Amino acid sequence: MSNNLMVCYTISMRLSYSALSTFNQCPLKYKWQYVERIKVPPTQDLFFGSLVHNTLEFALKNDPVVQPIGKLIEYYQAKWNPKVFKDDISEKEYFNAGVEMLKTFHSSHTPGLTTILNIEKFFEIPWQGHVIVGKIDRIDRLPTGELEIIDYKTNKKLPGEDDFKFDLQLPLYRWAAQTLVSDSNNIKLTLYFLRHNKRLTPINLKSLDQLQKYILDSVEAIQSSKFEAKPSKLCGWCEYLFQCEAGKKYLTKKQKDGETEKPRNNGFPRDSLFSNL
Ligand code: SF4
Repeated sequence: MSNNLMVCYTISMRLSYSALSTFNQCPLKYKWQYVERIKVPPTQDLFFGSLVHNTLEFALKNDPVVQPIGKLIEYYQAKWNPKVFKDDISEKEYFNAGVEMLKTFHSSHTPGLTTILNIEKFFEIPWQGHVIVGKIDRIDRLPTGELEIIDYKTNKKLPGEDDFKFDLQLPLYRWAAQTLVSDSNNIKLTLYFLRHNKRLTPINLKSLDQLQKYILDSVEAIQSSKFEAKPSKLCGWCEYLFQCEAGKKYLTKKQKDGETEKPRNNGFPRDSLFSNL
């Protein structure tokens, strides 16, 4: 067959950005999480990130009327689960950090300043026989008419501009917003770091073409994968570490070599910079 006639057949897939990035991080983890769907208890990072997101959704669901701060703390406290934390010290640290974030968020939010169009908005993009799915934390219409996509982060560390060089999540949100909202020519992408009460709008983002190439390359790689383990320092945060010999071996060696990457047996935080869906 001549090259012109070569066709690459792929099976139709339904994929989120975090599924793709999980595969690229470690095919074995992808298999356990997305193919075999092995359930694991929520980790402290995952639990914490989700609860803060849910509390903010509760705060703003009747925009422009915002729930009073007392109600937010009550909601947060009622849904708190001490069992997911590795010890009392961690639990206290996370709990207090959450309360501080909520207080700061509440005091800095000005109702009516923007029009909140969507909160925790699910999207599906049918494309090239596949469906790309995900959720956007918040979509606002600014007084200028611009659309603002807001992604909440509970990270301790603020990223630098270089951290966005490889990020494809924000370009995906831009694409999704264009399919969800009419009149979406001007889109501002904002990462809202709640611990720091700081909003960042990265400038050097990948293009839609680069994102789509990443998706197609990943789909092809998944469909021909043997799902082998790809140990890295991220094993310390992998929720499947308890059943992964390759991950344990890797971390033990690192510890012996003095490169202490302490196994936490935790999951990736919902809002670790590049995995949020
Ligand atoms: S522990 Fe490491 S090697 Fe094992 S599945 Fe998780 S990320 Fe992959």
